[in-house]
Amino acid sequence: MDRLEEYASENNIPIMQKDGILFLTNYIKTNDVKRILEIGSAIGYSACKMALVDEDISIVTIEKDEVRYNEAIKNIRDFGLEKQIEVILGDALETKIEGLFDLIFIDAAKAQYIKFFEKYKANLADNGVIISDNLNFHGLTLNIDSIQSKNLKALVRKIINYKKFLMDNKEFHTEFLEIGDGIGISKRI
Ligand code: SAH
Ligand code: MG
Repeated sequence: MDRLEEYASENNIPIMQKDGILFLTNYIKTNDVKRILEIGSAIGYSACKMALVDEDISIVTIEKDEVRYNEAIKNIRDFGLEKQIEVILGDALETKIEGLFDLIFIDAAKAQYIKFFEKYKANLADNGVIISDNLNFHGLTLNIDSIQSKNLKALVRKIINYKKFLMDNKEFHTEFLEIGDGIGISKRI
């Protein structure tokens, strides 16, 4: 795991922060989560961490970048977790996933979060939870006026918009936690 953390940091791959992943794995343990869908595998770091909580846990994780996908496959094999984790290469907005999950973890392109949420809520078990990462976007959502780059500003606006979407949602109630880079926990009302 240290090696994966190092690799991610050297290659600018935004894997979950330490307190974020600790929260997530504890949540899985405490709530007896068994079926997980992850949007955004990167190199398989969070998927391996979650799978290691219990050998009964199964994970489907989607990654659209082929280089990262290959890296994820290799890392998952190194940990001997290939029976627990299925990695799908593709754009999560175009992938069809069957079945229901106890936890859906959204950790991919920030501009698409509403779309991921709307698409994958159909795959959420009745008592399931959707957890979204990076809702503070490295603190930038609190400081939008100080951002110079137009593109970055637009992206930060999208995240603020996603938070608003969650706050106003009639179907789901969301708790926002200041953990890692900001986490949202959404459950059906
Ligand atoms: N969950 C990982 C980090 C994911 S980083 C961890 O904590 O270890 C976000 C990843 O989402 C990137 O690798 C990016 O390529 C991928 N991604 C972005 N948009 C996507 C999409 N539409 N479908 C699938 N993967 C996507
Ligand atoms: Mg993230």
